[in-house]
Order: sequence, then C-alpha cells, then structure tokens
Amino acid sequence: MALTGLDIFKLLPKTNCKKCGYLTCLAFAMALANGKSSVDACPELSAEARETLSSAAEPPIRSVNIGSGEKIVKVGGETELFRHDKRFNHPVAIAVAVNDNEDVEAKIDKINSLSFERVGQHYEVDMVALMNTSGDAAVFKEAAVKAAAGTDKNFILVTRDTLAMEAALQVLGPRKPLLYAADGDNYAEMTELAKAHGCALAVRAGDLHALAELTAKVIALGYRELVLDPGAQDSSRILADLTQLRRLAVRKKFRPFAYPVITFTTKEDPAEEMMQIASATAKYADIIVVRTDRAEYLLPALTLRENIYADPQKPVAVEPGLYAVGDAGEHSPVYCTTNFSLTYFLVEGEVSATRIPSYILSVDTNGTSVLTAYADNKFTAETIARAMEEYGLEQKVGHKNIVIPGAVAVLKGKLEEESGWNVIVGPREASGIQKFAKLHFS
Ligand code: SF4
Repeated sequence: MALTGLDIFKLLPKTNCKKCGYLTCLAFAMALANGKSSVDACPELSAEARETLSSAAEPPIRSVNIGSGEKIVKVGGETELFRHDKRFNHPVAIAVAVNDNEDVEAKIDKINSLSFERVGQHYEVDMVALMNTSGDAAVFKEAAVKAAAGTDKNFILVTRDTLAMEAALQVLGPRKPLLYAADGDNYAEMTELAKAHGCALAVRAGDLHALAELTAKVIALGYRELVLDPGAQDSSRILADLTQLRRLAVRKKFRPFAYPVITFTTKEDPAEEMMQIASATAKYADIIVVRTDRAEYLLPALTLRENIYADPQKPVAVEPGLYAVGDAGEHSPVYCTTNFSLTYFLVEGEVSATRIPSYILSVDTNGTSVLTAYADNKFTAETIARAMEEYGLEQKVGHKNIVIPGAVAVLKGKLEEESGWNVIVGPREASGIQKFAKLHFS
C-alpha cells in the first residue's frame, strides 16, 4: 500500500459506522495502510474510492503460480529492491532445459537425480523447460508425453509456434505449465491458449520499450497471469534489464512491469553459465532456465539461492533438543553445541564421520553461533545445564561426561558445578572432532 493512512482517510465516507470492525474511519484507514485490513472490509466505499484503493493495494510485482498439485511453483510477489530492507518472498525457480530432439527420458532421469541435502535443507531443481528445438509439433508433443511420464516436476513449454504449443498442451495442459512465449506476432493466439488452459504466459520482446507495449496489449486482452522476458542475450544486458524491470516495478509502480521475470542462460561454458546464474539469482530473475544438468554447478547455484532468499531477520536454526547420531546408547559420548543451523550441521557431520554413535545436545541460543551466543549470555553454564535436564540427558546415558566446544572452555568449572557432570573441553573447531574422538572415545 503506497498511500499513507491520511491519504486513505480522505477517500473514506467518514461516517464512523463501524461496519468494517473498527470504531472509526481513521482507525480503519491506519489499519489498511499497515496491511492489517482490506479494502473489501468497508461496504460504504464509493466505486471510485474502491478502485483507487484497490489499485494502490496491489503488490508492485504480481505473484504468479506455475504448475499444479503439491509442487506448485510460486514466483513474483516481491516488494523490495534489497533483501535487507525486508526480505525476498519467493525464491528464484531453476528450470533445466530439455530439447525435444534429444534423449528426453535420459535427460529427465538426470534432472530427477538433482536432489541434494545440505545443512538440513533439501534442494532440488524446480522445473523442466521443454524446448521445441526440432521445430516440429509432433516431435514436441512426443517429447511432452515422455517428459510427463518421467517426472512430477512442473514444466515450461518453450515454443513460439502456436500449433506446437497446442499439441504439447494436449499432454501437459492439466499440469498448468508456463507457456513461453507470446511475442509481437503470436500474442493473441498464445493469450487464448493460456486462458483456455489456465496457464501462466511468458511475454517476450527485444527490449524494455517493446516489452512494455506488448505486455499492455496482452493485458488489454484480459489476461494478467504473466511472466516477462526482456529478451537480452548478453550477460551485462541481462543484468541491466532485470535491474531496470525491478526498479520500475517497485520504485515507480510501472504497471506493465508488475510481473515476475524469466531469463535464459546463454553461455556454453559451464563456468561462464554459472556466473550468469549467480548474477540473475542476485538481481532479479524469478525463473532461470539453465543448460547445465551437472550437480557440481547446480548445488552451488541452489545454495546461493538459499542464502539470498533466507529471511535476514530470522537466524537459521534447528529445533533445540537431544539428537542421536547413529545408533546411540547409554555408553555414547555427548557433545554440546548451539542451535545455529550451520554450527549444528557442521558438528553433526563431523560427529557422524567419527563412526562412533553419539548424542548432540543442541542448546536453544535463538539460532546464534557458539561465540555469539556466549557473548550474548545465551550459551552459559546455566542454559546448558537447563537443556541437559530438559532433554533428559541423564536418562539417555549411563555416564556423566559431556563435551563442550573449546571456544567456551571457560564454562567448564561453572558447568560442572551447575550440572554435577564431568565437563570435557572439546576442540575449538568442528573440524577437530574426529581427531578428538579418536583420542577420547575409541
Ligand atoms: S465501514 Fe467504512 S464508513 Fe464505516 S467506519 Fe469503517 S471505514 Fe468508516
């Protein structure tokens, strides 16, 4: 909502009738300005005021759904230029390109295998971009049949040929793919296909001016489930165009650009392609279609995405508690650390590598690391002793030894007093755990 509470108040009937649930029109205006109510809550608004307020309430970039079922991909809905101002909402979706004239089944199998676990997070490629490289509608449809049978991922159908698009939609229509793309020649037919199948439609033009004109034409046909492609091929042009699109949408509220954005990598060399993916992830693609299907490039790309789209106001934390690593029992060693995700999973990885079944006590430090939590009085002898009791450590093991991180060796004496346990000072870094375990627990 770009209007202030007072701007909104001027448009209200000012009768204080309370039908909106607020005692006064002014209170309703303030709630609306803060996003705590909606325009529909006031039944007394004039049509003109409703129109003004509704359009001001629209997000600067529309949120668009691609696909169906549980794996539906949401893109757009962004309100910021910089993630530290608030947060970004919907992570950029990564689609891997599959040509309709290659071995579609083998490529789909490879894409399905691109699934990773990293520091407790699951990463995978979001979509398949089926490309009508053959230029043949029948080949495109056949590829759609094979791809549909091979994966439950969502699709982007890439062809400017409306007959080929129609043929592929006979197979994939129910899965609500993104149709790529409407251009200056085919936009009327493509818009009809998108409407008929309830699919999002990509609009592509050669530059930003042409894109604004073409988008306005598609909107005039009554369709708004759109994704934009400014069509640039060169890396620096792609970056410049995506930045301009986001600025114009968020800062200027330029409505023809109030839609999520798709871009394609253009580099053959995987390292250069990786640079394009990184650049488009940071600024400001919503969907990136990539050529590579190699895990060593896609895992870093997905990790970068996770970093940029994580909420900067919320530390990444694991649930505090007592975790068994391997088949831990009463004789197993006990390591203690904080519930900062990165710290916890580094410790867990190293403890697991010792091949000695163990317990890890994850103390609630609001997701902060060992030294930060210690400096903030969240990782102290008292908080550790409380966690030992709360998570029933004494009932799990038949000994009274606990390992604390070497960085907080100073807690040893106090923790022994608080808990009555023998406190062993462990290594300063998680990387020292294997050597430490060999010395103490083998
Ligand atoms: S319903 Fe409308 S007119 Fe009545 S108090 Fe609320 S804002 Fe004012």
